[in-house]
Amino acid sequence: HSKEAGKGTYTFYNNAMGEAVLKKISIQNDLHKAIETNEFMLYYQPIIDLQTGHLSGLEALIRWQHPVKGLIAPDKFIGIAEESGKMIEIGTWVIKNACHFLRELYELGYRDFHISVNVSAIQLLQNNFAALVCDVLTTENLPPDYLMLEITESVLIESFDQIISTLLEIRQTGVKIALDDFGCGYSSLTYLRQLPIDVLKIDKTFVSDILQVNSKDRIIGSIIMLAKQMGLRVIAEGVERPEQITYLKQYSCDAIQGYLISKPVSKEDITKFWAHNIFPTTSTPWLPVETK
Ligand code: C2E
Ligand code: MG
Ligand code: MG
Ligand code: MG
Repeated sequence: HSKEAGKGTYTFYNNAMGEAVLKKISIQNDLHKAIETNEFMLYYQPIIDLQTGHLSGLEALIRWQHPVKGLIAPDKFIGIAEESGKMIEIGTWVIKNACHFLRELYELGYRDFHISVNVSAIQLLQNNFAALVCDVLTTENLPPDYLMLEITESVLIESFDQIISTLLEIRQTGVKIALDDFGCGYSSLTYLRQLPIDVLKIDKTFVSDILQVNSKDRIIGSIIMLAKQMGLRVIAEGVERPEQITYLKQYSCDAIQGYLISKPVSKEDITKFWAHNIFPTTSTPWLPVETK
């Protein structure tokens, strides 16, 4: 096609692509030493139970403190890690670290919450993934139902049967499974019924639709009702405004996560805020429980 496009176009695309490739290679190279040099860290974002107003869970979200480039968000390197064979190593680091923090909180006396860890398809397809998860829980001496693994629908595109059997194996140990970013991308209600999951996390695009004037834009209510009928617990992601809470409560959504409650913060902040029974937020403090 390049010949047809003409010489100028050809060169233009070539340069643009070259730049992207170089950027990727540089990230790829740096990723190789990032674990040894301790450049990764986990931030935690609180998930709040809508009925009690209490902390229901913490989602672990990876960040990369690059020595030159500064803080790099996961969207900028997880894909590259997956492509360059680094995801299993990084993913294992994430699970171990999150469970270690979970143990610290447990020892401090905190109970009845979970830590969520995002996992890639590559991790689920690795040999003995279920055994790895079990080992970490045993090492940290944790009740398995304090750990939740978040998967996205994209993991189901390939090796559906193998993924399902791994999920079943993990779930048998008591670990919870959540389907993340539900509704964006390749969602299918048919798949949903076949999935061994406990929790549905509704993508933030649907949560922002709540603020639309036009009620036909709000299909999130139907999604919640459907999920609840299937016996799933529902978490709404990306809650930024109090009006969204009102709507989500109407539909008996179980829990919320978003900047309204708190951005993802360091583990030191989590322990500090929890000790004071308050989480930081841009607008409101700890979610007030309505007295009706
Ligand atoms: P996710 O699992 O859906 O995580 C939620 C993302 O939404 C986080 O972005 C979080 O900071 C952001 N968020 C939370 N509340 C709000 C809000 O109210 N408004 C808006 N606009 N955004 C909000 P983050 O930390 O940049 O992570 C992006 C994605 O990277 C995650 O999406 C997850 O898919 C992936 N990721 C993060 N950590 C890991 C990891 O350890 N392993 C793997 N495989 N993926 C990870
Ligand atoms: Mg997630
Ligand atoms: Mg999500
Ligand atoms: Mg996401």
